[in-house]
Amino acid sequence: MTKSASEETGLAPEILAKYEPVIGLEVHVQLLTNTKIFCGCSTRFGDPPNTNTCPVCLGLPGTLPVLNKRAVEMAMRASLAINCTVHERSRFARKNYFYPDLPKGYQISQYELPLATGGWVEVEHDGAKKRIGITRLHLEEDAAKNLHEGFAHSADKAYIDYNRCGTPLSEIVSEPDMRTPEEAYAYLTTLRQILLYTGVSDCNMEEGSLRCDANVSVRLRGAKEFGTKVEVKNLNSFRFLQKALEYEIERHIGVIESGGRIFQETRLWHQNENRTVGMRSKEKAHDYRYFPEPDLLPVHVSSAWRDEVLRSLPELPEAKRTRFVSQYGITPYDAEVLTATRALANYFEEVVKAGASGKNSANWMQTELLRRLKDSSKEIDASPVSPTALAELVKLVESGKITGAVGKKVFATMFDSGRSAAEIVAAEGLGAQVADFTIETAAREVIEKNPDNVAKFKSGNEGVFKFFVGQVMKSTRGQANPQAVNDILRKLLS
Ligand SMILES: [Zn+2]
Repeated sequence: MTKSASEETGLAPEILAKYEPVIGLEVHVQLLTNTKIFCGCSTRFGDPPNTNTCPVCLGLPGTLPVLNKRAVEMAMRASLAINCTVHERSRFARKNYFYPDLPKGYQISQYELPLATGGWVEVEHDGAKKRIGITRLHLEEDAAKNLHEGFAHSADKAYIDYNRCGTPLSEIVSEPDMRTPEEAYAYLTTLRQILLYTGVSDCNMEEGSLRCDANVSVRLRGAKEFGTKVEVKNLNSFRFLQKALEYEIERHIGVIESGGRIFQETRLWHQNENRTVGMRSKEKAHDYRYFPEPDLLPVHVSSAWRDEVLRSLPELPEAKRTRFVSQYGITPYDAEVLTATRALANYFEEVVKAGASGKNSANWMQTELLRRLKDSSKEIDASPVSPTALAELVKLVESGKITGAVGKKVFATMFDSGRSAAEIVAAEGLGAQVADFTIETAAREVIEKNPDNVAKFKSGNEGVFKFFVGQVMKSTRGQANPQAVNDILRKLLS
């Protein structure tokens, strides 16, 4: 991915290696409330433009904001899940700027007294764990949305949809703790997973529920001082975040290596051109003239309320992964796959609760279930095979009533028809295990045809045994009980 930029800058890998990138992210996340932060209008996405508005969110004179308690609670959930201190007292402030998407002429945000500060998330990348610090989490209202396409006069006019205006947001600002684009990617992935687990946001990037800006600079390895940072906006997908950072890092190194200097500025990622473009320099940056919002009281969070929210948090992904490994004896990799979402983790635990072993449940889910769900573009919640139905199948295989190969065929039928494993096995006669004498006949035949291997086995080559098992399974078309095949072969070969 770094190719396009290095082709452009022509930087050798040893030049790039001299520098260390420093990355911090600012993430805006839309809180999953039914109504807006300062009025009772709906926050539903996709309604006809300007249907969810009222005098408050349209900023008409004489209206007063009323804080949505649910929005504060959601922001508290997020804060506590990322190990922040939720302050007893925080305050809203006016951030003044003039833009058509902001009808009041100011945005109500938090400034010098944010809701929460000083947290961290643990990120795993390339097998190494690292803590990324969280500077702050604050509450604010979203602006409206400018629409530049799809209307009668779009060629020479911009349209504005005020439905989004006043939607509650949390801005989560990280410390400049990331050192590679991959680490930034891992941080955003981890943060998104926590926000989804706690039900704070749907984190839908296409609908704008999760938006990301990056602060990036470079410095010579070993240097203490940070380089001049640039803010990159418009990173509305994980892939764009990584590509924009890769591009920007090489651009910085290129400028410094050729004797130039980096100016503090805001740049936009242009996805079609695969590059960032300067938007405005900091010298021309807005002076937001923040001052305390006179129409709202300071936010007061009692320790009782904070504790109540803390108790209501679900088990978080990291804790779940650790528990899955120790409780079910599955690998860390399996635990990571199975805790990708809460729904998936719950499904797994229900399969185990219904009597299947942790290890086999994990295997069947990953090899058969997830593959088929993906092929049919279904989420785990819409799986045609329920956890108890999958457990029944896994137990049939575990008990040797059917073989693994037959189990896979049964699973395919279960997935397509919704019928139970026992039903399919009975109806198709799959459960009828191959009789012992049939296995014995097949085994004798294999032994007769392979005197060389018999000799090898008798002289102590245990590895050859697998060959015999394989041949017998083949001639019984995978339907013999592997344990019976093993026992009969041992008897005949001894
Ligand atoms: Zn409203």
